[in-house]
Amino acid sequence: MAEGTEPGENDAGDLSGLGLNGIEEEENGFSIGAVCTLRQLETHKELNRCFHGIFKECTRSIVGVQFRNGATVGGSLFGRFGFTDIITCLLALDTYVELYKGGLVPLEEFCRMKSDRDILVRIHIRKDGRKAAYVSQRMAKTDFPVIACCCARKDGKLYVSVGARPGKAELAVFDETTDCLKEELTKRASESFCYGSNMRGSRAYRKHLAGIYIRRLLEGLDEEER
Ligand SMILES: Cc1cc2nc3c(=O)[nH]c(=O)nc-3n(C[C@H](O)[C@H](O)[C@H](O)COP(=O)(O)OP(=O)(O)OC[C@H]3O[C@@H](n4cnc5c(N)ncnc54)[C@H](O)[C@@H]3O)c2cc1C
Repeated sequence: MAEGTEPGENDAGDLSGLGLNGIEEEENGFSIGAVCTLRQLETHKELNRCFHGIFKECTRSIVGVQFRNGATVGGSLFGRFGFTDIITCLLALDTYVELYKGGLVPLEEFCRMKSDRDILVRIHIRKDGRKAAYVSQRMAKTDFPVIACCCARKDGKLYVSVGARPGKAELAVFDETTDCLKEELTKRASESFCYGSNMRGSRAYRKHLAGIYIRRLLEGLDEEER
């Protein structure tokens, strides 16, 4: 960064020498540096053990290993791309983004914020005991997703995030103790998001897929809890 330049005033800032390339497990959660690669998310044993393999699942179809060794967590979140598997996955967890100027912001709020020139320093994921599962559908193995869904459950609350609609991922939260019929809950969950069409699929197809995948993820979570 040029002398006298405030961080965030240009895009040339180099974060690679700031020790932000690791995943640290703390008592209450994980702290993940902005320069951490997608491959690190995919292969980190404790992170995947704690969140039931969803990081492996949400990264494994992103291009190839060589690419995932270069693509970063910061780059994947800051762009807030509609197709991102990473945001879809993190939204269903209790995730915060640490910004250089903006401080600690819940990921859901960060996703609604307009792009600015702040710098994403780290993300923090709280270990709050959520059980989670992730799935995406692609037309070819390493293509962008047609739809991506993540569900997490804790204390009767269900956290559902759907991305690649093709708009950016959004979160909806349901109370399973009152919305107890799975078919009804799945319908409500899939209908709570807006869908659109692009070259990978129509609005109606995405909505249909979301319903199917949310139901399958819920069944998977039920299995795990048995
Ligand atoms: C061909 C291709 C296929 C892809 N397929 C998928 C896919 O299927 N699923 C998926 O989830 N993703 C996919 N991606 C996205 C990819 O995983 C990365 O998220 C994306 O390429 C960003 O890469 P990067 O980390 O090198 O960021 P960069 O290219 O270095 O940065 C992207 C932007 O974010 C800014 N930026 C980077 N880091 C920070 C930071 N810490 N703070 C503030 N701003 C920052 C940069 O200035 C730049 O404007 C694909 C990308 C490509 C090129």
